[in-house]
Amino acid sequence: MDFDPIASPTTPLADHREPRFVHEGDLAVAAERLAGWTDRHGGRSPNIVVILMDDVGWGDFGCYGGGAAVGAPTPHIDALAARGLKLTSAYSEPSCTPSRATLLTGRLPMRHGLQRPPMYGERGGLQGEVTLAEVLSARGYVTQAVGKWHLGENVESQPQHVGFDDFYGFLSVSDMYTEWRDPYFFPEIVYNRARTEWVENQPFNTCFVKAVRGGELENVQEVTIPVLSELDQLWCEYSEAFIDRMATGDKPWFLYHNTRGAHFDNYPHERFLGVSPAKHPYKDTIVELDEIVGRIVARLEATGQLDDTIIMVTSDNGPEMETWPDAAYTPFRCAKGSTWEGGVRVPFVVAWPGLIDGGQSNDGLFDFTDILPTCLGLAGLDDAVPDDRFIDGIDQSSFLLAPGARSNRKYHYYWLGQSFSALRCGEYKFMLNAVGDDPISQADVQGTGGFSGVLQKFPYGKLFNLYLDPKETHSYMIRKLAYQDALVGQVGRHLRTFAPPYQAKLIVGINV
Ligand code: CA
Repeated sequence: MDFDPIASPTTPLADHREPRFVHEGDLAVAAERLAGWTDRHGGRSPNIVVILMDDVGWGDFGCYGGGAAVGAPTPHIDALAARGLKLTSAYSEPSCTPSRATLLTGRLPMRHGLQRPPMYGERGGLQGEVTLAEVLSARGYVTQAVGKWHLGENVESQPQHVGFDDFYGFLSVSDMYTEWRDPYFFPEIVYNRARTEWVENQPFNTCFVKAVRGGELENVQEVTIPVLSELDQLWCEYSEAFIDRMATGDKPWFLYHNTRGAHFDNYPHERFLGVSPAKHPYKDTIVELDEIVGRIVARLEATGQLDDTIIMVTSDNGPEMETWPDAAYTPFRCAKGSTWEGGVRVPFVVAWPGLIDGGQSNDGLFDFTDILPTCLGLAGLDDAVPDDRFIDGIDQSSFLLAPGARSNRKYHYYWLGQSFSALRCGEYKFMLNAVGDDPISQADVQGTGGFSGVLQKFPYGKLFNLYLDPKETHSYMIRKLAYQDALVGQVGRHLRTFAPPYQAKLIVGINV
């Protein structure tokens, strides 16, 4: 039978793993490429760079139809995509912390427990989880985290305690360092000494920091607005120095580089003020981030490591529309905080010169849970995927390596906090609940913010054909009941994966 993402069955792996498609042809091509690479490199594993941007939209990069067309050219990212693979159906979670924890654990937020970001010193984080850094470190990798963390400020959740050899960045999120310092956004705090002191005494660190494995945090500098505007440059320089050092070593390495931009509020480095055709701080920041990607790639090339390194460039969620115009561009419905496509469909560029053919675009399903097992698969460490807990991710190494390959993932699951929201299979998305439009702005489906909309529950569900209707405005449910088992039935099967011993975990959650 010909393969079809809805009609074809998956193959079970284990009770604690998501079933997957097995595409024999793709697997054979991928295995041959990986074996050839390993032979040429004396059994060494490849390096891995993940560049994770903040709140950058699916449509911001030129190679996704944005770039100069939306006032911020991205030549370096476009060039990297031309040397690799551009994914058009890659999914994050609806906001920063859930996505970042999912990226590092291969698990959905209902399993790692971070259903929403901890803010202003709220307790809880990544502790108790097994991270990609920890697994790679145990198999001989040097592990470096740079930039935004936002996976808990508590000691046990800090990067140097969850698998990273070294960390240089801040523990929380951009706006938390600046919004109460900016008289435009918070005059009632800036011009009120008592309130300023009250904020300063809240239990979060107002500095950016550094730390080495197992050690204590050291404050580098208070993150005032002028300091914040320099962070992406400082962090890029730190990653460049790391790449230089690694070139002289014999160990494989993992660089987890998280940009400050383009989370609101954007204060680009002075070198980038007004450089974008749009002349807007958000767009200037996109130009700055594009240059940073170019610098990291150039440094890999200059040190002779480019062909030894898998590079992934993506964003942790869709645009934050409540802060428009300091917001990204998505052609899809709604925004960050929601499970509409605009909240979770993110740009995802993967390059590994010599192993991944250049100039490809692929619409197969890929989600942030897949990053951990896929990196381990590409590193030849398939056996290192944790087996003491449920792993939602699927090894997609054959999907990335074999030209024109098919995704190994049949379903993408959308969770909205603690509520199961939707699933996608093929071009269809079945949705049970969602962040709804604020009735005042219902006329513009992109105008409503993902965090400020109302919760809508659909008693019978809605069905969207994402090829015919990428903005999700026409429910196709009653016309397409033949998909009942593939969609409605699968919701039940997915929810049953949370039965003991794999119960949901709630660390920082919301009741929606
Ligand atoms: Ca984010």
